Amino acid sequence: MKLDVDVLRYLSKDDFRVLTAVEMGMRNHEVVPSELIDRIACLKHGGTYKVLKNLLKHKLLHHDSSKYDGFRLTYLGYDFLAIKTMVNRGIFTGVGRQIGVGKESDIFEVVKEDGTVLAMKLHRLGRVSFRAVKSKRDYLRHRSSYNWLYLSRLAALKEFAFMKALEEHGFPVPNAVDCNRHCVVMSLVRGYPLVQVKQLQNPGTAFETILGLVVRMAEHGLIHCDFNEFNIMIDDDEKITMIDFPQMVSVSHRNAKMYFDRDVECIFKFFKKRFNLSFEENEDESDDSEIDSDEVCWPRFSEIKKVSGFLDKELAASGFTGKDQEDFERFIGEDVQEDSDSDSEGTEDEEYIADSTNESDIKDFDSKCLLKEEGDNTPEHEHGQIEHGVVEE
Ligand code: ADP
Ligand code: MG
Repeated sequence: MKLDVDVLRYLSKDDFRVLTAVEMGMRNHEVVPSELIDRIACLKHGGTYKVLKNLLKHKLLHHDSSKYDGFRLTYLGYDFLAIKTMVNRGIFTGVGRQIGVGKESDIFEVVKEDGTVLAMKLHRLGRVSFRAVKSKRDYLRHRSSYNWLYLSRLAALKEFAFMKALEEHGFPVPNAVDCNRHCVVMSLVRGYPLVQVKQLQNPGTAFETILGLVVRMAEHGLIHCDFNEFNIMIDDDEKITMIDFPQMVSVSHRNAKMYFDRDVECIFKFFKKRFNLSFEENEDESDDSEIDSDEVCWPRFSEIKKVSGFLDKELAASGFTGKDQEDFERFIGEDVQEDSDSDSEGTEDEEYIADSTNESDIKDFDSKCLLKEEGDNTPEHEHGQIEHGVVEE
């Protein structure tokens, strides 16, 4: 999806106010009735309707009249809300080129006022697993606030919390800068995903470093769960950085051993195939089997010695709670695969909540509305400006 930040240049405070009103409404409506948007936004003289038209034109909203007249945010609309908040907080001033397309994310370069370039990851949950998510309908029905915004926000929050905690324990991860909605800002890793690297000076050293990271993470109570050549970056000095953390689990997870072994196996397989390292993979299921290997020992999950209660303390401090983890795992857990071909065309309508105006939404909007967000002291009528892709207040 193209992120045309130039559109930001044309957006007024009223545009952002209405966009935020739709976001508020989506807490309990998959499609937000126009009348509710108007009540939340509180613009004078029916101004909301004109603004809605403008937002629709720029593809920041999607209009849906299948059941009643209403709107929902598009990913682009959600992107703009997050970007605006980051700019208001002074995290960055401009958005540059796209540097990565993940399974469920888009990654862009962003630039700070002093010229430093950072990486911005926009989570796009639902791009791949929407069908699987829908198949969790039974659970979702009890969650009025469910939608893809919620899941993407949770993915970002989890990624940010884990990155920060890993960084604090000296793991080679990007520096976690900030997180808002579905957006995580981190330092830019100078290097390439390992999958793109055809030759290494010291493949054995890289292999041992990488395997050592899996073990050390497990000692700290964590398993990456997607530890492979796509999520390991390596630079010209063959320095390793790990990325991509939304799927991490605790070593106390019921399938921890399976995840741990899978991560280890990915590394063994990749180094064997790409760099011809000489060792055999562990084909035996049993923990006690002799590994047929020249020098390298297949790390065993049962032999990992935990060093601290890492997860509980530090992750909670970053705002990612056990409840968040539980929610997230329900959707993103290992049974996604098996569910993915059932119930693929379910009707979204079933999940609509009664379309009454919710007073608490309005109150919430007044206290949290974008115009009053931290760091944003711009007078109401001034427009956000972008010059050459740089957002300026
Ligand atoms: P996904 O969860 O969708 O797989 P990733 O976090 O793995 O997303 O990012 C996808 C790609 O974007 C990576 O393979 C990498 O090329 C690039 N990328 C991600 N984070 C950074 C970063 N901090 N610095 C540089 N490139 C990055
Ligand atoms: Mg990835």
